Order: sequence, then C-alpha cells, then structure tokens
Amino acid sequence: MYRARIELTFDAAHRLLGYDGKCASAHGHTFRAEVIIATRELDNLGLTLDFRDLKRHLRAWVDEHWDHAFLLNDRDTQLVSALGSVSECKLYLFRDTNPSVEAVAHELFVEARRQFGTVIEKVRVWETPTQYAEYEPDAIEDTPSAGPLTGRRVST
Ligand SMILES: [Zn+2]
Repeated sequence: MYRARIELTFDAAHRLLGYDGKCASAHGHTFRAEVIIATRELDNLGLTLDFRDLKRHLRAWVDEHWDHAFLLNDRDTQLVSALGSVSECKLYLFRDTNPSVEAVAHELFVEARRQFGTVIEKVRVWETPTQYAEYEPDAIEDTPSAGPLTGRRVST
C-alpha cells in the first residue's frame, strides 16, 4: 500500500454549544488539516494521486467555505443570528452538531471523498500544535454517507 499526504491550513472560529468550559466562548484557531491518501498501485506517472490536483481542489473548497469563517452548530441560534446580521461574516453551519475538531475532520473527509473517491483514506485536523482529531471510516463503512454532519455555507 502506498500512502501520501497533503496539508492545508485555514483560519476559522468556532465554539462548542452547551460546553461547560472556555470552548463555549467563540474563539479562533489556525487549523491544520492533513489529507491522507492510500492506493495499492501507482498510476502510469508513478503517483498515488497528483498532489497538485488534490491541493488545488481541496484548497478551493476550504477557502470558499471555512477560511476566515465561523464554524457553528446550526442550533446555536443566538450566535448564528448575531453574526448573520454582519454582512462581512462568513458562516458555515454544522447540522445539529457542534463544530468540534472531530466534526471538522469528518466534514473534510466527506468532501475529499466526494471529490476524489475512496483513494482518500483519512483526514486529520490539528486544532492546536498539540492536539488533533481524525476521521477514518471503518473498513465495512467504505463509503460514508454525507450524514448529519453535512454543513452548509450561509450567505448573509
Ligand atoms: Zn477551539
């Protein structure tokens, strides 16, 4: 099995609705995402997947949806309403789910699989230099559903 990895960073704010602690307050991170791909064989150029294509397409999606955005639980009505009244604020809502780093990793995994298929093995997202979460489907769950975590970008 060949494995390869690309990294993307983006700046975003989030908060954990209902959390008993300082993460209940909106705050920002420079998130660092690692997208890991795995293939049994190389293509005719000797590649697992063209890094340029992978980075360009995922970078574009992250820039459009997450970079300099607020990642919020769509049940966080008070903050969604307040930020939604500011035209410059970019919001990305997670359906009935807190935008934890675990949820961010799952969401990016779903998007990467949607764009590139099962060659995407895992997504790991670092929230700080010392902590990350990752999402990798169980072997039997080869094709994850978009599921309840599928978010949406909100235009204000
Ligand atoms: Zn945080």
